[in-house]
Amino acid sequence: MMQAMVLEQPGKPLVLKTVPLPAPSDGQVLVKIIACGVCRTDLHIVDGELSKPKLPLIIGHEIVGKVIKKGRTVTKLRKGDVVGIPWLGYTCGKCKYCRNERENLCENALFTGYTIDGGYAEYTVAHEKYCFPIVEQYANASGSPLLCAGLIGYRSYTMIGDHVTNLGIYGFGAAAHILIQLAIFQGKRIFAFTREGDVNAQAFSRKLGATWAGDSSQEPPQRLDAAIIFAPVGNLVPKALLDLDKGGVVVCGGIHMSDIPSFPYSILWEERVIRSVANLTRKDGEQFLKIAPRVPIKTETQTFPLRQANEALLALRSGKVQGAAVLVMAPQL
Ligand SMILES: [Zn+2]
Ligand SMILES: [Zn+2]
Repeated sequence: MMQAMVLEQPGKPLVLKTVPLPAPSDGQVLVKIIACGVCRTDLHIVDGELSKPKLPLIIGHEIVGKVIKKGRTVTKLRKGDVVGIPWLGYTCGKCKYCRNERENLCENALFTGYTIDGGYAEYTVAHEKYCFPIVEQYANASGSPLLCAGLIGYRSYTMIGDHVTNLGIYGFGAAAHILIQLAIFQGKRIFAFTREGDVNAQAFSRKLGATWAGDSSQEPPQRLDAAIIFAPVGNLVPKALLDLDKGGVVVCGGIHMSDIPSFPYSILWEERVIRSVANLTRKDGEQFLKIAPRVPIKTETQTFPLRQANEALLALRSGKVQGAAVLVMAPQL
């Protein structure tokens, strides 16, 4: 048996329960969880804003843990390996998206902590092919935010194009605090936009090297070559277009966003682009986790014990988390 925080019904708090230990099927491993990050997507699931959760459900898709048992046909992983388990839990390998390197759009994908059980628990099972190896420096709570905030931030960043010097980031939470380190490492100038008057987040972004930080309603001192929106706020799309230079891209990095208001065509004209980012491919994960220790990316985490998952979600909701919130099950294994 194991302890888990279970979502029984959207709109209700998670419930601490003792549930049976999952058994690894063919190709799966049983993982003892060290830590699991708390992502904004978890809030969208708990709030019922994403429509297809498995219920009851163990949420959480930024898992760092140690392999303790292998199912049959597991070939790559060994007992004792530390792995990261991300949002993308399974793809079919057969649909048209899988066949042309867009497995993030797979018709039959399963998602950790959404359509299959995830990491707000002491143990979980995962398909070995979707686990990432985790280097020693990240084999603890600090590695968890890399697995979604880091990865989705990285995928968004790969969509901004090749000619970007000035990069705007709208919403300075877990994803932004990781991405800024990589972007500055690669010579970008960062303009950080936060909710109105969030001077703490603005100071945090400056500490991490932002060229400029301000409220999302403010005009940046220079035109932006690209913008990434992490905040789930549709109003930011036309605002980012206004801040953008010709030919620039606005990348929406979240899984859910409030409605985008209508706007004049003139702010989109001159080949400005709006696009979204969905999920991740394993290639994104491999590339990002290879670069992260080279930067080296350091995550700032606020940790909570498993049983305080509701408190962690509340802290995230109210903007009280600097960096990333992480549930810690077993700090050392
Ligand atoms: Zn597929
Ligand atoms: Zn996430």
